[in-house]
Order: sequence, then structure tokens, then C-alpha cells
Amino acid sequence: MALLSLDPLKTQKPKPPAGGMSLGIRMTDDTDNGRKPGQELTAAWSKICETLRAEIGEASYQSWIKPMRLLGQEGELVRAGVPTRFMREWIQAHYQDRLAELMNGEGLEGELDVVIHQEHGAGVRLETKPAKPKTQTTETSAAATNGEDIGAPLDQRFTFDRFVVGKPNEFAYAAARRVAEASAVPFNPLFLYGGVGLGKTHLMHAIAWHIRQSRPGRSVIYLSAEKFMYRFVRALREHNTVDFKEQFRSVDVLMVDDVQFISGKESTQEEFFHTFNSLVDQGRQIVISADKSPSDLEGMEERLISRLNCGLVADIHATTYELRLGILQAKAEQIRVDVPLKVVEFLAHKITSNVRELEGALNRVVAHHQLVGREITLETSQDVLHDLLKASERRVTIEEIQKRVATHFNIRVSDMHSARRARSVARPRQVAMYLSKQLTSRSLPEIGRKFGGRDHTTVMHAVKKVEELREQDSSFNEDVELLRRMLEG
Ligand code: ADP
Ligand code: MG
Repeated sequence: MALLSLDPLKTQKPKPPAGGMSLGIRMTDDTDNGRKPGQELTAAWSKICETLRAEIGEASYQSWIKPMRLLGQEGELVRAGVPTRFMREWIQAHYQDRLAELMNGEGLEGELDVVIHQEHGAGVRLETKPAKPKTQTTETSAAATNGEDIGAPLDQRFTFDRFVVGKPNEFAYAAARRVAEASAVPFNPLFLYGGVGLGKTHLMHAIAWHIRQSRPGRSVIYLSAEKFMYRFVRALREHNTVDFKEQFRSVDVLMVDDVQFISGKESTQEEFFHTFNSLVDQGRQIVISADKSPSDLEGMEERLISRLNCGLVADIHATTYELRLGILQAKAEQIRVDVPLKVVEFLAHKITSNVRELEGALNRVVAHHQLVGREITLETSQDVLHDLLKASERRVTIEEIQKRVATHFNIRVSDMHSARRARSVARPRQVAMYLSKQLTSRSLPEIGRKFGGRDHTTVMHAVKKVEELREQDSSFNEDVELLRRMLEG
């Protein structure tokens, strides 16, 4: 599911005030809808969802609340449907109290019953989702047919619809959407850059799909820089560079992926430079991707770099825990497999390198489940991913963690071992214990010993506390995430 919002992901969860609550959420598989929602109920429901939207942020709202459908009311029971068990569990775990409370505020005295709803199209939708692009569009113009010829095929899965948006990629996503939707060229070129497996190719294909669908007459060419070079070299060899130039210079949108490939390849760069200029002069759109920013690309001609810098440069950052969760959830739904929340959280914690690896891990877990027929659990997942987890585990030591955390919070390293209980030292110490548990393979007692001979239950408590705080306090969460990333290198 794509999150169409550009709001930053908010990690803060609503904290329901304690006491005075009589409502609970029942979670059943029952899909008997009871009475259809009346106008009043629908209005109250929309209001509840809107309030929650403001509280939890756009991204979480799009992921979890928007897909819920109000199905009806049966006596005191208000029933809402979600498409998967996973979503039901997630809502139960994260929004149960707050939803119940908001219902109460709207004078709905009964219970909320969240069910897995088979025909999920029915019921009251809050908004409609954009239509999925067709798998293939018939191209009519000659240029478009040409495009098919010189470009590379597009991956059907790489659509905007399936791109999960979070803080690390929201800017690149917004820019890509803008290019895809604009009638006049908004910036030229759009330069997307970021590390491997973070979604550059996905966004480029999404632009191409979108344009091919909304304006089938336009010729959109997507290809890798490598392929561009290969075509160019072939044209040189076959003495038909004129055709080559014609082909590339007559397209409406040219997208060249992984342009770092032509670093140090002078004649290809030269040809690319001319193609580039010719298209820009004609007001055609160019989209480029690379693993580095234009200025950091080595072995590129100055004039090309300055051209690349002319438009909009958008980077995709490393994933955050929240984004990884969102992506896993979306992927699990796409392949229609119920993956327990615990497993999803585990994967999001452990597979932090990039989205491709994350997808790979999920696919392995699911494939194992389907082949062997064993239920997906935390244990089976750990088993299946044994080698992968080991490889991603960098050998960071508890001492390194203590040092790093102490510096970050401006306390002495000796305070990691001391008996001082002041919040200003106790909290960083808890963070360090938590990170030791996350990033090393040390057991709780071992960790306790390294922290001034503390008991393993103290470590356990610290881990729980930090997990709680990460959920509640977004700036704390960012701190911890930052530390984790620095320590992982
Ligand atoms: P890059 O080109 O940056 O190396 P890709 O675009 O090939 O990365 O992405 C790698 C894989 O991860 C693809 O399968 C892609 O669909 C997936 N992916 C990356 N980012 C996202 C995202 N935000 N939402 C959904 N899938 C993503
Ligand atoms: Mg790529």
C-alpha cells in the first residue's frame, strides 16, 4: 500500500489517559455485518478517524486507519473491517485504547469490534485509492514504439501504489510524483540518488508507468546507463550513430538509471551530455539516478556535473525502523500471507541494510512456510535467516556502545558502571543496555556484568523501558535510532 502523504512519519503514539474507560475492542473473525452504518454513525466514525489522523500522523493513518471500513452497528457493537489478520493485530496492539476512547467521546457507548472483512471493498471508505496502472498500455505513436525498442522493460511491481513512503524517501517520492503528474517540466533533470536497494529504480519505473498510463501518446524511455553505453558503442561500431542520436533525442521523457556507471567513460559521457542538452533544450523531461550526488560522482566531466546539478537533486536516505515496518506490512499483504507482528518487528529490527534485503528476508520466511508447511513464528524465522542475520551482525562491543552512548548523552563512561540512579545517568545507561542487547549476541547476565555487575532482570527492565519510550517519545526514538545506526557503522 502506498502512503500518499508527504507528512513525515510520526513515531509518536497517542497516550490514552488512564481511568474512566469502559470500552474495549473485541477482535473476532466474524464477518456478519449487522445493521449497515447510518449517516450519524458514519459521521461520528469519520470524525474519530480524523482526530486519530491528527494524533498519529499521516503515514500511520494511511497504513492502519484508512484501510479500516465501518461495517455497521449491532446493538451496542460498532463493527469495522480490515483486510488482514495482521492489520487487526496491529490495530489491537497500537490503537485499541485510543479508538475506544474517541468512540466514547462521540457518544458511542458500546464496543468496537474489528473483524477481518472478506469483501473489503464494501462498507464506508474514508477515501478512494488511486487505480492501479494496467500491466501494459498500448502505445500508439511511433516514438513510443521506438521507446520500447531502445529502452528496458518496466517491472510491473514498481508503481507509486506499491511504494511505501516514510521520512527517508518522502522528498524523492514527492519529486518523482511531481514529474509524473506535471504537464510542463517542473525541474530538469530530476536527479535521484541514494545507496543500493533504497528504491531509486522503483521510483523511476513508477514515473514511467504513471506517464504511460495517463498520457499514452508520450514516449517514455527508461534504461540503465550501462545499456545506454552499450547501445552507443554498438552504434559506433555499426556506423549508425545518426540513428542512435535520432532515437534518443526524440523522446518526451528520458530516464537513465545508475548513471555512475559511465564515470570515467569519456566518449559515452560526451554523447550523453549532448543527448541531455538536446532534450533539455526541447523542453523534454530527464530523470537520472545515481548512487551519489552529482558533485560526489567521480570521473565525471565538470560540465556534465554542473548540468546534473541544474534541476532538482533529491536523495533517498537509509531506512528507519518505522519505514521498514511499513514496507514489510505492505509486502506481506501483497503476497497475502499473514505474518505475525512479532516476526515483522523482528525483521525490521534486524535487517537494516536496505529494502531489497528486507524483501529478500521476508520472501525466504514465507517461502519456507509455504514449502515446509510450518507456521511462521519468531523461531522458524530466526532459523531460516540464520546466515543472513549472522552476516548483518557487525561485531560491535559493549564497551563501544557504552562509550558512544556516554558521549552522546554527555555523561562519563564510568557512569555506565556506577550505582548512581539519577535519571540523567540512569536513562543513558538503560539505552546502552538496550543497544547491547540489540547489537551484540551477549546474554542478559553478560550484559549486566558489564554494567557494574547488575542483575539480568535490571537489563531486562531497561530493554523494556527503552522499547516503551521509543514508542511514546519520537525524539527519544530518533536518538536511539541514530545511535544504533552509528554503532552499526
Ligand atoms: P535501488 O534502485 O535504489 O537500488 P530498487 O528500486 O531496485 O533500489 O529497490 C529494491 C527493492 O526494494 C525493490 O524490490 C523495490 O520495490 C523495493 N523498495 C524500495 N523502496 C521501497 C519502498 N519505499 N516501498 C516499497 N518497496 C520498496
Ligand atoms: Mg536500481
